[in-house]
Amino acid sequence: MLLRTPLSSTLPEGWLIWDQGHQGFLSVPFAEGLNRLARRRGKARSEPMPSPGAALPPLLAPFGGTKILAVGRNYRPHAAELGNPIPDEPLWFTKPPSSVVGHDGVVILPADVGQIDYEGELAVVIGERCRMARRDEALGKVAGVTLALDITARALQKKDGQWTRAKGFDTFCPLGPWIAAFHESWLDAELETWLNGRRVQADRLSSLIFPIPELIAHISRVMTLEVGDVILTGTPAGVGPLAAGDRLEVRATGPRHLRLAVTCRVEGQV
Ligand code: ZN
Repeated sequence: MLLRTPLSSTLPEGWLIWDQGHQGFLSVPFAEGLNRLARRRGKARSEPMPSPGAALPPLLAPFGGTKILAVGRNYRPHAAELGNPIPDEPLWFTKPPSSVVGHDGVVILPADVGQIDYEGELAVVIGERCRMARRDEALGKVAGVTLALDITARALQKKDGQWTRAKGFDTFCPLGPWIAAFHESWLDAELETWLNGRRVQADRLSSLIFPIPELIAHISRVMTLEVGDVILTGTPAGVGPLAAGDRLEVRATGPRHLRLAVTCRVEGQV
């Protein structure tokens, strides 16, 4: 069963929710428990994402973090399909919190910037502040996993040489809506992207050139990772252009056939 509507029914065990009041992640077995918390504190978020297509960007990254990081060329077939070499160390960049839209949100295609591609990705959410994390301790810093789309203005990415503009437009990061508690079997999760009901990307997380522990070790040598920071882990082969009217869904199947999904629709700039 795909979980399409947040909090519409029972929340399975193993899901996490960001609790602003406690600055941490709660393991919330049932939606009712979550709603009770929200009523009591007025702070626990019943939906961790800003509203779809939000005009007002969040002050912090979703889940209370400070930043969204993303990894490029982390699946060999994807590097090859764009004619890029395999990087010899993780190649990563940031997406601003203002690029986030929630589940069932709207991606707005800016006018006059050329081709804009979808990239479906599994993302990890940091659960413990870390700096200089060792590879063998890195997974202990992960609260859970969620799904993201790293929408990319491909022509601008090539033109600019660095990727801030190409990856940073408002609405270029559909994210969420759930965080599944981390379990090692997510390291071999199946990841798929569906465009208008057709599967266009599929691979397993075990194919990552730089696996999640290495990404966390590498990034945390540069910048402190805060609780709630999000790392998009890279996209499989099969990226392609978007057009107004498209519908996208990213899915991942993890432990005990637990499924995550995030969807969005695409509109042109008015
Ligand atoms: Zn990407």
